[in-house]
Amino acid sequence: MKSFKEKLTQHQYDLRKTGIDILQVNVGKLCNLTCSHCHVEAGPSKVKENMDLRTAQAIVRLMDEFHPKTLDLTGGAPEMNPHFRYLVHQAHQRAIHIIDRCNLTILFEQGMQDLGDFLAQHQVEVIASLPCYTQDNVDQQRGRGVFGKSIEALQELNRLGYGQSNSGLVLNLVYNPVGAHLPPAQEKLQQDYKQRLSDDFGIVFNKLYTITNMPITRYAKFLKTFNQLESYCELLVNSFNPGTLDGLMCRNTLSIGWDGKLFDCDFNQMLGMGMRKDHELTVFDVTKKDLESWQVLTANHCFGCTAGTGSSCQGTLQ
Ligand code: SF4
Ligand code: SF4
Repeated sequence: MKSFKEKLTQHQYDLRKTGIDILQVNVGKLCNLTCSHCHVEAGPSKVKENMDLRTAQAIVRLMDEFHPKTLDLTGGAPEMNPHFRYLVHQAHQRAIHIIDRCNLTILFEQGMQDLGDFLAQHQVEVIASLPCYTQDNVDQQRGRGVFGKSIEALQELNRLGYGQSNSGLVLNLVYNPVGAHLPPAQEKLQQDYKQRLSDDFGIVFNKLYTITNMPITRYAKFLKTFNQLESYCELLVNSFNPGTLDGLMCRNTLSIGWDGKLFDCDFNQMLGMGMRKDHELTVFDVTKKDLESWQVLTANHCFGCTAGTGSSCQGTLQ
């Protein structure tokens, strides 16, 4: 088997950053859920791994240094971080597009009663995980009762205008496979989701993104338990598609950890593959010049992004 680096060499592809269009900020591992596929290994007990104000303020400095088009907030459940709203305010003031990667059930947690209104007021795009339109599959992956709460949350977001045509409030959903296989075609699955969610629950949304599960951290352990880790990794390698390389999200994204460390993407972050020059790069001192023509740090998990039609935090690449 060729390594990912060898594949790049074979295709004479020099994987470098083209600029920083997206600041993707992982504000911490604190979450109200504990999903089996979670590559962040998030959960309710991860109270310490949570971004502090000093780091959030340094991110505001990066907004002014890099002038990104998008601030992409993820976690854990990003809304549980005490500085989530500060970051949203700051980005909104600078006319930066904001994404909240929301697990939906968070809308019903204590202290979150006004969350939907807050997101709508700041024109935050909501990208919400919903691994299936049926209860069994969602509850299997995300925990018992999650499907019902997710449906209620989507209905609430629709009431606020999210997903409705001409409202300007964008509601996108994310599908990731429950089993050890690649996601089906995004377009066709989107049609199925639209039909079923509308017929069964009166829900509307904008787009569905299909995302390949990364065989790292909690999901790797899950596959190992069922003796599927090796075959799943082989599937990713055998499905390598060079046509996905130009669209890889690491080319225009800067991923930031809860403690201010910098990474090429969220997956590298979870694997501790930090960006280094002669020292570790952090939000506290990085400059535009540091990242000019930056060569992306890769390893074999990268096959998860290049398999089939490709995968990124914005769905397929082709
Ligand atoms: S997948 Fe998302 S909702 Fe589930 S535990 Fe991880 S961060 Fe929380
Ligand atoms: S895992 Fe990260 S670094 Fe590797 S190809 Fe995907 S986005 Fe790029």
